[in-house]
Amino acid sequence: MSRAAQDPLKTYKAKRDFRKTREPLGAKRRARGKPIFVVQKHDASRLHYDFRIEVDGILKSWAIPKGPSMDPREKRLAVPTEDHPMGYAGFEGTIPEGQYGGGTVMVWDTGTYTSLKTGDDGNEVPISEQLAKGHATIRLEGHKLKGGFALIRAGRIGGPGWLLVKMADANARPGYDITSSEPDSTASGRSIEEIREAD
Ligand code: MN
Repeated sequence: MSRAAQDPLKTYKAKRDFRKTREPLGAKRRARGKPIFVVQKHDASRLHYDFRIEVDGILKSWAIPKGPSMDPREKRLAVPTEDHPMGYAGFEGTIPEGQYGGGTVMVWDTGTYTSLKTGDDGNEVPISEQLAKGHATIRLEGHKLKGGFALIRAGRIGGPGWLLVKMADANARPGYDITSSEPDSTASGRSIEEIREAD
């Protein structure tokens, strides 16, 4: 295989014209400390939330049309999208119209996560292994999102649908609508409108 074919960010780079968008070109990073997650509110042709978790130096990504929920009864559809570079976790700003994902991006929540799955040997099961099996459980330590969440591949292998579901733990908030109650950026405190107008 060629070097390019092994680049996990090949699709990310191919979709974008970096002369026209200020999104990071990025690269893999070496792991240090707890892995991170970010949820980016993306006011594109259709408003959605991009859920990204650090796995082996890149950000595995899903687009969640309704956003995450703190209510264990709310199963949120999460459609896999291309891997993103680690530098994308801090990206907040506007992607020009006509470019891929054109619209405004907000860092809606960010923090670290830990794996919740332990193997028969008592060791933590790597998140990449959990995802390959279509069922991962993680604990998020964000500003907004906290506690256990399950990422479950709902359809057949290769199908589009995953689900992000809050686990029933002390952090669960049944009936609480976190996306409408806490709409602004956790990085800058700005609303989508303020980010759009600043660009
Ligand atoms: Mn998006």
